[in-house]
Amino acid sequence: MEKMEGCGPSECRFDSYRGHMNLSTPIEEISRIGPVYQKRLKKLGIKTVGDLLFHFPHRYEDFSDIIPISQATPERIICIQGKIAEIKNFRTFRRRMYITEAKVIDESGGIRVTWFNQPYLINTLKKGDFVFLAGKMVSKNGKKYLSSPSYEKIPAQFVESLANGEKYDSVHTGRIIPVYPETEGMSSRWLRFIIKPLLTKIKNEIPETLPEEIRKEQDLLPIKEAIWQIHFPDTLEKAELSKKRFVFEELFDLSLAILREKIKLANEKATLIPINLELIKKFINKLPFKLTLDQKKSAWQILKDLEKTRPMNRLLDGDVGSGKTVVATMAVLNAVKAGFQTAFMAPTEILAKQHLKTINGLLKGFKVKIGLITGKENFLGGKKVKRKEIVDKTKSGEVDLLIGTHALVQEKVEFKKLGLVIIDEQHRFGIEQRAKLCRKQDFLPHLLSMSATPIPRTLALTIYGDLDLSLIKEMPKGRKKIITKIVPPEKRQEAYNFIRSEVKSGRQIFVICPRIEPTRPDLVNEVGSHSWADVKAVKEEYKKLSENIFPDLNVGMLHGKMKTEEKEKALISFRERKTDILVSTSVIEVGIDFPNATIMMIEGADKFGLAQLHQFRGRVGRGEHQSYCFLFSEFRYNPRLKAMALCQDGFELAEKDLRLRGPGDLTGQRQWGFPDFVMASLKDITLVEKTREAAKEILGKDPELKKYPLLRQRIEEFREKIHLE
Ligand code: ADP
Ligand code: MG
Repeated sequence: MEKMEGCGPSECRFDSYRGHMNLSTPIEEISRIGPVYQKRLKKLGIKTVGDLLFHFPHRYEDFSDIIPISQATPERIICIQGKIAEIKNFRTFRRRMYITEAKVIDESGGIRVTWFNQPYLINTLKKGDFVFLAGKMVSKNGKKYLSSPSYEKIPAQFVESLANGEKYDSVHTGRIIPVYPETEGMSSRWLRFIIKPLLTKIKNEIPETLPEEIRKEQDLLPIKEAIWQIHFPDTLEKAELSKKRFVFEELFDLSLAILREKIKLANEKATLIPINLELIKKFINKLPFKLTLDQKKSAWQILKDLEKTRPMNRLLDGDVGSGKTVVATMAVLNAVKAGFQTAFMAPTEILAKQHLKTINGLLKGFKVKIGLITGKENFLGGKKVKRKEIVDKTKSGEVDLLIGTHALVQEKVEFKKLGLVIIDEQHRFGIEQRAKLCRKQDFLPHLLSMSATPIPRTLALTIYGDLDLSLIKEMPKGRKKIITKIVPPEKRQEAYNFIRSEVKSGRQIFVICPRIEPTRPDLVNEVGSHSWADVKAVKEEYKKLSENIFPDLNVGMLHGKMKTEEKEKALISFRERKTDILVSTSVIEVGIDFPNATIMMIEGADKFGLAQLHQFRGRVGRGEHQSYCFLFSEFRYNPRLKAMALCQDGFELAEKDLRLRGPGDLTGQRQWGFPDFVMASLKDITLVEKTREAAKEILGKDPELKKYPLLRQRIEEFREKIHLE
């Protein structure tokens, strides 16, 4: 049997595993993982040996420097190696706590060691045992001792070689040790105890997944070395290098997946829709305002795409109110007048109706037949109709533009000649939806996705790299700035007074809270973040505002745990001005127009990312009245809040957010399942570009990845993970 480092002989049961172990061996077959731990691991999505080995530490503790006991100085983390001269348990005089006290000696001297409430330790650590200890030296009431150190027993058979100056390969002490993200019921100590012998056993069987030429070109560690060094690094530099390798690999896979998708799409067939310049000019001349330069550029890029025989895959990205709908409507008009139908999909019924209203207004006089299909109501040409009528007339080609919710793809809607699909706020699913919409025709419609989340270009290239981009950065002229203020606690009353006066003059208010329910104090420690202890909750705040602060006003509530109908009711009541103040979590969709709402008040503002704060702010300032955004926070000097108060430009804030917090909030795609350190690395622009270049290089040589079956398999899995299709 090979040497099993890190576990005492009594703990070591690996020899009971007889089968051949590899990365896909299920954790049930590892004898030292019992049913309780199997369950805990599965909760984290860890099902195989591979999953376990790719569960990386998030930081390290450097216990590598072993010093003679005589050199131990107080207030420092130290690591020593010695023999237990005595060990005993006793209780404190109030009998509340067990204390285990030991004396440990080496050639240079002795030290007292204490542990609290771990009486069972004396069953493991016995007089005469050799141990590594790592922890903090404290000095209290003139007594010096090592307080609750990590310990590691040195098996008897190694003691002699230690005496000869050889190094014992320890797991928990005497080296740089990995610390894994805290998870309920699974300590770093336990994970080390499991992972180390597994790694030892199979590290030579872990196949290299990066193409060798890329790995060499980028000077990255081979996988066998990196996986060892990321768990049990020889030096912190080695740990860094390993991390670098895995980050590169994740981003490289992502780039590959997206580039392959792009190549695939480029080979699809669409029909050409010629630009009708006369018509477009007529449309522009009828607008009550002048288009911004960015609107013109975007419209031109879109119209040019329609003229191609390969399908457009374009993302139109611009802040709320930047005028995307106008631009999209030009494409609709152009397609319809060339004899093609258009489908326009919105995420909710209320947004679908809003688009109907806006587009109806913009296309007045152009004789475009517009329908609306939702789960509940259907309209055609301004009249309420039965679903069957709209379905029939879409099939016969009589409906030019069909706006709708998911009902568009879910029901048996069939188009006669669908030339253009527009999808609002669901860009990651656009390509999939388009495929559903045109099942029955032999060419693909062009696809325009719209997003009101400003995304920095570099990031967009990575996560939406299969789409072409049109950005509207410039806001229409004459927009009033939303006055943004950070409100410290002592100014709260003043803010409430101001709110009351705004309501008295007919305006409406949003109050955003970071959570739904009040915090359960018993959960605070578990989450480990004390700053969440007094974070405002919607239900509490609703009660406080409606009963104590504004008993005379109409206060409404909206949060994610409400039923869809309740939510819509709350929104409609607010839109119809029956509610003065709407207390909500972050659920209010982007893009809904409430021109009469003038104050956006955000509780616990420091709990949100910049991009999100900016989205909230965008929900006011959509009408003629001066609007305000109040950021409530106990932390006055939060740099994010400062940035919010100073800057109104969504793209600029998104760049800042990317630098400050990484891309999590920007993409709203936490569910992508990347490890945090990969998400964080998306802000490293040079690295992102390097991975794209590397992906291009490989695809240029081998578009089908025939030479790289492992890589190909990874990409396929990846595609599923991020819903590319
Ligand atoms: P988005 O869809 O990007 O949120 P919309 O297209 O709905 O923005 O436009 C928001 C509002 O601004 C609408 O009332 C629209 O008529 C108006 N608008 C659009 N473009 C301009 C412009 N160039 N100048 C002035 N107002 C504009
Ligand atoms: Mg809009």
